[in-house]
Amino acid sequence: MNKAIVCIVGRPNVGKSTLFNKLVGRRIAITEDTPGVTRDRIYAEGEWLNNYFTVIDTGGLEPENEDTIMSNIRKQAQIAIDTSDVILFVVDGTQSLTQTDREIGNILRKSRKKVIIVANKIDNQNIPSEIYEYYELGLGEPMIISAEQSLGLGDLLDEVVKCFPEERDTDLDEETVRVTFIGRPNVGKSSLINYILGEERVIVTDIAGTTRDSIDSYFEHGDNKYVFVDTAGLRRKRSIYENVERYSVVRTLAAIDRSEISVLLIDATEGVTEQDSKIVGYAHDNGKGIIIAVNKWDKIEKDNKTYKEFEKSIRKTLGFIDYAPIVFISALTGQRVSKLLELINVVNNNNNLRISTGVFNDIINQAVLMNQPPSDKGKRAKIYYGTQVSVRPPKFVIFVNNIELMHFSYTRYLENQIRSHFGFMGIPIQIEYKERG
Ligand code: GDP
Ligand code: GDP
Repeated sequence: MNKAIVCIVGRPNVGKSTLFNKLVGRRIAITEDTPGVTRDRIYAEGEWLNNYFTVIDTGGLEPENEDTIMSNIRKQAQIAIDTSDVILFVVDGTQSLTQTDREIGNILRKSRKKVIIVANKIDNQNIPSEIYEYYELGLGEPMIISAEQSLGLGDLLDEVVKCFPEERDTDLDEETVRVTFIGRPNVGKSSLINYILGEERVIVTDIAGTTRDSIDSYFEHGDNKYVFVDTAGLRRKRSIYENVERYSVVRTLAAIDRSEISVLLIDATEGVTEQDSKIVGYAHDNGKGIIIAVNKWDKIEKDNKTYKEFEKSIRKTLGFIDYAPIVFISALTGQRVSKLLELINVVNNNNNLRISTGVFNDIINQAVLMNQPPSDKGKRAKIYYGTQVSVRPPKFVIFVNNIELMHFSYTRYLENQIRSHFGFMGIPIQIEYKERG
């Protein structure tokens, strides 16, 4: 599933944060490492009529003061343009159009992004005449809302959802594997991509007309077709994102959403960071194939235990993705980069693996014989049968008498049994229970 990104921009005090809070449900918990940034509510997930999206509040970027307002706003507008599918340009509908509004309007109009003008603070039926000034911006009719009173939000969300892009990249071949490289700045993402595109005997292809003004890289390697989906600050406009690491996180999450496989790059000289584990946790939660690549391996003094110890420490920190393969590479020398490409292919095959219902039930029955399902207060869990319901990622539904009795540890046991037959290396397989009387 591709999640659309909605950005909220506008000058201070027009009600951006208030609107943000009304539009979102669950917050995505990514903390900010950058000192001095106080507001940590920057982006969160929203849903409207089964359309899922991420909302970004650009207003939380930096503290505002008179000197920096304009430069901040330009920065915010640029981030919105680079990051989002739909931009909500919030204005104060009870006040006249200001010079700052005009400036923002100009930047947004030139971007050719979908922009909705949102006239906020219209708390009652009386529509102030100031509203008409906003037509001057040339961005269409303002949507009238009161964020505080929750008025007009349904209509606004209808409009927002209409602007979402069609399912992206549908023009790509079925077998094209979408891969994104994730990892902290300076871990070597661009070096690796450049190495692969430059050295690995790949055929780089230009595919015009894809829905996004993307800088994704399309190429073929052997019989396989790949796309490297762009992540944060990969090759352009780095300077804009200085000190705004959180926005690069949003871009990374968007890239993860758009791909089937995430390769987490870890700097061999630094090890796994908390940010790494949160980002890869997002890939895990969203059912993406995962490969761990320890980069800059050329920089490490090694003896015959180094690699084992490194692997052990990664497994300890990233225990929840114990299914992910680990490869030690150097984007500088190219060491084992071809192995990484092979792994991507293997993980992709696993992601598309279908197990027949017969074979699946043989495995489940055997697992149950070896280790009975749990019981609670004299009630024993019973497993009837199961079946694979989807691929990418493989998802299994198992019918049981009582879902409550199916403890996490037993699910883990079943998962291990499935893996012991089919491996599913690199894949967060999903098991869901359904009750049957
Ligand atoms: P931001 O700086 O754009 O994020 O603006 P805030 O969301 O912090 O809101 C600025 C002020 O406007 C706060 O005092 C809000 O309570 C107020 N406000 C926000 N939305 C509305 C609204 O729909 N009606 C009214 N009357 N006030 C609002
Ligand atoms: P990005 O921010 O993740 O895209 O990282 P870059 O690709 O820009 O790399 C950051 C720095 O690390 C650059 O100076 C690279 O030359 C260096 N670098 C990247 N990969 C390797 C590697 O495998 N070995 C060594 N020694 N340096 C590397």
